[in-house]
Amino acid sequence: MSKGKLFVISGASGVGKGTVLAKVMAAREDLRFSVSATTRDPRPGEVDGVHYYFVTKENFEDMIRKGEFLEYDAHAKNYYGTPRGQMEEKLEKGSVLLDIEPNGAGEVKRSCPEATLIFIMPPSMQELERRLRGRGDTPEDQIKVRMERAIWEMEQKAWYDYVVVNEDADVCAQEILHIIAEKAE
Ligand code: 5GP
Repeated sequence: MSKGKLFVISGASGVGKGTVLAKVMAAREDLRFSVSATTRDPRPGEVDGVHYYFVTKENFEDMIRKGEFLEYDAHAKNYYGTPRGQMEEKLEKGSVLLDIEPNGAGEVKRSCPEATLIFIMPPSMQELERRLRGRGDTPEDQIKVRMERAIWEMEQKAWYDYVVVNEDADVCAQEILHIIAEKAE
């Protein structure tokens, strides 16, 4: 029996998830962040083993073959996946937060039905595009790809347990903390 609960958070690229999740993690020391593996290049400031495990396509495909992923998905021309081992180790100690997109979230819900799924929405699609551009770390050709993906992601929110809107990062983080407090205790 693991000690913790599983919380899955999804939200389109540019929705401000990073800021919100940093606030959530800072407010709850008992919560651990599941570090995903990805084949995409690190962005400025991203640290290997902290934000992601940055691996090659060959490494990632090797991990798939060895069954090392709880779930994985290919999107925005890269692979992203949750290495099972680190997630289970963290779950032994307490609750775990996964920042993954809807395909992965659906997979987690199938294998761990007790997981709580939370979807973060932008105030509007125009605001999402504005934030994505404003971030300055996503090439223009990728913005179009990510906006198309965001439209699909928004349709998936219907089957999440909770939907929160990120109009203000502090308010949004508080809403998520409230959900976690309810489920984790
Ligand atoms: P980014 O490249 O902006 O860090 O992440 C792009 C998308 O990949 C985000 O929607 C994020 O939630 C998702 N993602 C990150 N890690 C994983 C993972 O391990 N599995 C899946 N399925 N999606 C992930």
